Amino acid sequence: MGALLEEATEILRSRGGRMTNQRKRILESLELLGSHPSADEIFAFVSQSDPTLNLSTVYRTLRWLEQEGLVSARHFHFDEDRRTDRFDAASPIDHHHFICTECKSVIEFDNRLIGEVKNQFSRQTNCWVQSVSVVLYGLCPNCQK
Ligand SMILES: [Zn+2]
Ligand SMILES: [Zn+2]
Repeated sequence: MGALLEEATEILRSRGGRMTNQRKRILESLELLGSHPSADEIFAFVSQSDPTLNLSTVYRTLRWLEQEGLVSARHFHFDEDRRTDRFDAASPIDHHHFICTECKSVIEFDNRLIGEVKNQFSRQTNCWVQSVSVVLYGLCPNCQK
């Protein structure tokens, strides 16, 4: 069982909720699909093994996971519809992304300088920064050839 599924099961149990088969499949798909799937991609994937699934269950489950801090929603500009949410199961807090505009591959990274930018901004403006997300766009080594 993956870490995400384990954590979600634990949270459900502590609140008297139930881990339904559909929730379980959605959680598994997040881990299997890896790189930041959209709700539509999750729906298409899980529907193959469970034709009774509907898209609103996928959305509800993802919003719940988001509220619990188990996934975070991201917006990447390669989506034609810019409102498309992509769901990120990997260490949701403050990590950043490079996106290859050609092959759409996503590389995650962390850099403490970004934390410094956040702190400096807070000091200068007295704003409370809730989260930081940096997205770099360009070409990966393969696509530069
Ligand atoms: Zn990510
Ligand atoms: Zn590429």
